[in-house]
Amino acid sequence: MEPQQNCPFCRIQAQEERSRSVYEDEWVVAFEDIHPQAPLHILIIPKRHVENLLGLEEEDVLLAGRMLLVASRIARERKVDRTGFRLVVNCNRDGGQTVGHLHLHLLGGRRMSWPPG
Ligand code: 5GP
Ligand code: ZN
Repeated sequence: MEPQQNCPFCRIQAQEERSRSVYEDEWVVAFEDIHPQAPLHILIIPKRHVENLLGLEEEDVLLAGRMLLVASRIARERKVDRTGFRLVVNCNRDGGQTVGHLHLHLLGGRRMSWPPG
């Protein structure tokens, strides 16, 4: 899908708001969450606008895998690999999705509870 003008994450990936970016390659960008819910809170997004997990197609298998790989690399770089971390994908209303551009939350640096709220 084309970049969406009113999508905050399309704006970020279009380099209009790149200050908090922590990783970038041809397909994926990662940046600090504006309202961190943990000492480490990074969002990993596809550069291409995809509404949420339901918008992924068969040909996005490598993209989805890359998002996970980038998350694990950042976790290692930020030294939460041994203590642990959590990956979250919120989808639609009950999942608590507030931004309609697929993103993977990488949370770490504190003990997480289960079940999630
Ligand atoms: P969701 O609730 O959709 O899973 O998560 C959206 C996340 O994006 C929230 O954690 C929120 O703090 C973050 N967020 C929303 N707008 C912006 C923004 O403009 N910049 C950044 N860096 N994070 C944002
Ligand atoms: Zn977007």
